[in-house]
Amino acid sequence: MPWIVASGILPLMQSANWYRIGLVILLILTGVSASAHPIHAGQSDVITSGPPSCRSIALTFDLCPVRAKPGFDAALIDYLKAREIPATFFVSGRWAEQHQEDVRALQAVPFFEIGTHGEDHAHLPLLDEPGQQAEISRAVSLMRSRYHLSAGLFRPPYGEYDDVTVRVVKSLGLQFILWNLVSGDPDPTLPADAILDRVARRLRPGSIVVFHANGKGKHTREVIQALDETVLPRAQLRAVTVTELLTCRKPTP
Ligand SMILES: [Zn+2]
Repeated sequence: MPWIVASGILPLMQSANWYRIGLVILLILTGVSASAHPIHAGQSDVITSGPPSCRSIALTFDLCPVRAKPGFDAALIDYLKAREIPATFFVSGRWAEQHQEDVRALQAVPFFEIGTHGEDHAHLPLLDEPGQQAEISRAVSLMRSRYHLSAGLFRPPYGEYDDVTVRVVKSLGLQFILWNLVSGDPDPTLPADAILDRVARRLRPGSIVVFHANGKGKHTREVIQALDETVLPRAQLRAVTVTELLTCRKPTP
């Protein structure tokens, strides 16, 4: 890369470490912001947002297993359906085992997309490779065998992953979907307006926002309604599924 190597620092950069340091400095100088996340091998395989050139965002809802009944935010789902708001759900295998009717209800909505969220909501980096493989693939197999659903999107529980996770997800032919905006909706100390304010201030074209649809978010429906009625129209942003966001489809008239 001769365009970045000034003759004065060339000898220093002949060492691999200096080359890396130099590259980071030059990326910063040329306006390429360093990621807030730690740099992993295969980081580019981990998707945190869509293209900023589209005026679209993705509302995503995790369905992590919960002990408390009902474990499904029916009021939220009813609102999304009534307003025809596209949404993407990340379903854990254990949750899907206990909520067969709810999975089928989500499946029946044409503007909903379903991905998986591991089998037991395990901390993936604590598992070895066969363990990670089992945790990730069991939920995918369950969705296929029981619901005839090919779930191509995967989100790791707690957003935790390591290089092994990236490799396993890739080998299973899944797309690794994280987020770049945490709503904080399961935090019982956060009132609805605090969640809404956080999301509204950070929302950008291409954002992938994480919420919960398992009843953990006490104010999730309220926040979604405010986004739908006020924040999104004002910002001229449109909610789409993750797959639509990544392919940047134009809104249909
Ligand atoms: Zn989860």
